[in-house]
Amino acid sequence: MSLNRDASLQNVKDKSGYYDIIIIGGGATGLGTAVDSAARGYSTLLLEQHDFAKGTSSRSTKLVHGGVRYLQQGNVSLVLEALRERGLLIQNAPHLVRNQSFVVPNYDWWEGPFYGVGMKVYDMLAGKLGLGPSKHLSLEETIEHLPTIEQEGLRGGVIYYDGQFDDSRLAINLVSTANYHGADLVNYAKVTGLLKTNDMVDGVTVKDEISGEEFEVNGRAIINATGVFTDSVLKMDNPDAKTIIAPSQGVHIVIDKEFSPGDSAIMVPQTDDGRVLFAVPWNGKVVLGTTDTPVDSPSLEPVAMEEEIEFILKHAAQYLTGDPTRKDVRSVFAGLRPLVKAGDDEDTASLSRDHTLQVSDSGLITITGGKWTTYRKMAQDTVDQAATVAGLSVEKCTTEHLRIHGWLKNVDRNDPLAHYGEDRVQINKLIKERPELGETLHERLPYIKAEVVWAAREEMAMTIEDVLARRTRAILLDAKASVEMAPEVASLMAEEMGQNQAWIDEQVETYSDLAKAYILDS
Ligand SMILES: Cc1cc2nc3c(=O)[nH]c(=O)nc-3n(C[C@H](O)[C@H](O)[C@H](O)COP(=O)(O)OP(=O)(O)OC[C@H]3O[C@@H](n4cnc5c(N)ncnc54)[C@H](O)[C@@H]3O)c2cc1C
Repeated sequence: MSLNRDASLQNVKDKSGYYDIIIIGGGATGLGTAVDSAARGYSTLLLEQHDFAKGTSSRSTKLVHGGVRYLQQGNVSLVLEALRERGLLIQNAPHLVRNQSFVVPNYDWWEGPFYGVGMKVYDMLAGKLGLGPSKHLSLEETIEHLPTIEQEGLRGGVIYYDGQFDDSRLAINLVSTANYHGADLVNYAKVTGLLKTNDMVDGVTVKDEISGEEFEVNGRAIINATGVFTDSVLKMDNPDAKTIIAPSQGVHIVIDKEFSPGDSAIMVPQTDDGRVLFAVPWNGKVVLGTTDTPVDSPSLEPVAMEEEIEFILKHAAQYLTGDPTRKDVRSVFAGLRPLVKAGDDEDTASLSRDHTLQVSDSGLITITGGKWTTYRKMAQDTVDQAATVAGLSVEKCTTEHLRIHGWLKNVDRNDPLAHYGEDRVQINKLIKERPELGETLHERLPYIKAEVVWAAREEMAMTIEDVLARRTRAILLDAKASVEMAPEVASLMAEEMGQNQAWIDEQVETYSDLAKAYILDS
């Protein structure tokens, strides 16, 4: 079943009467809610102001994890829930989530026993959904797993297992899953206001960001799933509403695999500001991060600060013998955590990572906080609440074992199209019909032309940024290469979408401007 923006928009306009549930925001939280709602049989609409996963949901550390750090903080219930969700997600989207080994290198005498015991507790909490038992590693074993780890003072390590995934690909597959179950989902559709009858919210005003057209649509339950933009929707409802979000920026740096060539990731439990630092192999590169910097206002394109880049490079050089520097950075990207305020606390590292679900006096339902890993449970709680608020018939949640679009077990990880799961069969068909679509787009990246055609035809990509940032991950893996690919991607899309040279030129210029923030000058 293809995704098609025009068809979805037409459905919205043709629909007489109300949707049961309208969701504002197409990140992990909103998309999960759309899947849950549609799979229960509720008529469902999701509106996203930009592209699906444009916000925080394409900028994560790419881990499906219980959160070893929250265990350190004693938040056992959060870890327990996340570990359960980790186990379910790996079953429901095996083409996108894989088992990843992590090694905690030990330099102090107490670290081995301390982290060894901690990881055993982590294993125990995961129970039957565990991904493998943690264990101590000798010095030699640690070096075998992490050939480029700093060896001065190294005593050994502890190995444990968590999940790793492709965040925006999962988001796109959730769009398809919700659509398959009957939901309408529209990207580039911004909610500009809320409609009310007798002070109760019962619809939204929408601006089509592509045609400029504005329209209204009604729904029995309206859900605010807008991440760091939560407060702007709360203020549409009540201009005096108290702000609840404290955005916290996290930056990642991507470097070549030769800096950490093993299959295991590195996990440093305690950096200078008390954060966890990861070096995780991902799509043939290594992702380093992250930071935790409070910021004043939300943005769709947050920019990494110099101090954050320096912080990551300094710590990477402390643990990696190759000492990566600015010139080695292939991409730098920033994301904003939608943390929920707990009073006047300024330190975002200590704010709640749990999710918050609230119902305003008008009946507006707001879901925020949490993590990618727990999106399914957040969605379940939200739809339960929405059904109560809107008086919908009670339907059971069905997502615990619901297969996500593309579901394919035992994917061949050497297949460059593996992350498409079942869809790779269709992509290979495209290549059979037009063999030139099998050509790669850049010598430094694995992406082929067929993926661009597929994204435009089947995955609702509207711009070259959608393709280069979220259908493929070119901007995160090698931002310079992504700019070099841009003209060819624009031509392929233009052919597919019936666009002209002016469109191609405008796309390439806009994209090249945007990508500058991902490229570090040495
Ligand atoms: C640096 C960093 C690393 C992380 N790493 C991990 C990790 O490894 N594992 C993990 O499980 N979690 C991780 N997280 C957390 C996880 O990424 C977030 O919890 C999750 O992506 C939040 O999703 P969301 O849908 O709530 O927000 P978003 O993804 O931001 O989605 C909200 C959407 O609402 C849209 N929107 C806003 N206003 C409107 C409007 N008026 N009309 C229509 N649409 C609107 C926005 O455009 C946006 O797309 C990380 C977060 C950060 C910042």
